[in-house]
Amino acid sequence: MDDAIKWVRLDILDQLEQDNSAMVEFEAGFLRNGRLDGLHERSEFVYQQGRWWYTCGKHLPLSHKPRKPGSNEGCPCGSGVKYKRCCGR
Ligand SMILES: [Zn+2]
Repeated sequence: MDDAIKWVRLDILDQLEQDNSAMVEFEAGFLRNGRLDGLHERSEFVYQQGRWWYTCGKHLPLSHKPRKPGSNEGCPCGSGVKYKRCCGR
């Protein structure tokens, strides 16, 4: 059984930077076992010692339910190629 995750997209929905802290809300999509699933999270970062550090993240509900992409539909990775000829091979 193939449990490997293939990340296919990342959408930044919101981001806010203020002084030494930042918030990023994103939705990432991945393929696992032929299903397109995702992760919707709001993450917080602080800037210290010259770099950004992840402090906490909050999982949010996904805007799309996990589903199986159609083999003739455009690949969810955004390649512009049909799913069956791209990540669905
Ligand atoms: Zn693809």
